[in-house]
Amino acid sequence: MPHYVFICQDCKKEFEVVQHIEDLGKKPVECPSCGSRNTTQAAAAFSAVTSKKS
Ligand SMILES: [Zn+2]
Repeated sequence: MPHYVFICQDCKKEFEVVQHIEDLGKKPVECPSCGSRNTTQAAAAFSAVTSKKS
């Protein structure tokens, strides 16, 4: 299962979520630190580091 890095917009913490790609974007990801669902995906942790698109 791939890991995805999310960032909580409320407490600004990064955390990894193991989620099937088909589920990505369907379920709200809760911050394990504060429980907020105001989270955004940062990067796919399993993929090679390439050029970042902003
Ligand atoms: Zn949080």
